[in-house]
Amino acid sequence: MRNIPHVLVVAGSDSSGGAGIVRDIETLAAFGVKASVAITAVTVQTHHGVQGVDAVAPERVAQQMRAALSANPIAAVKIGMLATPATIAAVAQILVDHPDIPVVLDPVLVSTSGRALLTPDATDALRDLFRACTLVTPNLPELSVLAASTVASSPDSVAGQARSLLMAGAKAVLVKGGHAGGVEAIDLLVQPEHADQSFASPRLAASMRGTGCMLASAIAARLAFGDPLAAAIARAKAFVHGKFRET
Ligand code: PLP
Repeated sequence: MRNIPHVLVVAGSDSSGGAGIVRDIETLAAFGVKASVAITAVTVQTHHGVQGVDAVAPERVAQQMRAALSANPIAAVKIGMLATPATIAAVAQILVDHPDIPVVLDPVLVSTSGRALLTPDATDALRDLFRACTLVTPNLPELSVLAASTVASSPDSVAGQARSLLMAGAKAVLVKGGHAGGVEAIDLLVQPEHADQSFASPRLAASMRGTGCMLASAIAARLAFGDPLAAAIARAKAFVHGKFRET
């Protein structure tokens, strides 16, 4: 029998299906990977806005993760919306016991419609989670918030801000350049003792929700198959670009 890897998704639900755990599972399925889940929050959403959020109790999130890890051979973890600092701490505590599993963290702070998906007091806890992560994938607005909470005077350059996340414990940072202008969407991979690497794809006029969820899940899927980090990112980016072309 073919050995199909499992990815554990720790994320919120989105009733519209545009983002969150639905996007994650769709993406993992497209890569031929099985999904296990730990739901962190139930959100009520349309494509225009977030109407309600119920955070799941942190201990319930931890129980889901423990059950998933004992039920299936988890080859990678993808983390999305975490909702509260207590949930972040609960997730971090479990990951400490599984240091060999690659972890991709999409540090979700707000929805595209502007609703906070993480309480503002949670950025310190989020930084503590970095230490457990193989890769953190902020977009430009998330990067500047996280960098500002990391060092007293945040550097101006994107690479400098990404390095401040490395100093806070992240093993690698992929800055998603989708919010910048330009004819290409350029993502920047910053790692300690490596030259920075960029990944470019032509910018398309289309807009699509849940792209951050898709990219992080696609990277986790390829890491679950054993790809090196840069190769996993390149394949994930090509996948998201393909989805944009379909819209
Ligand atoms: N809702 C949930 C549950 C999410 O996890 C995310 C992003 O990860 C979003 C909404 C935000 O998606 P969008 O920016 O497409 O609104």
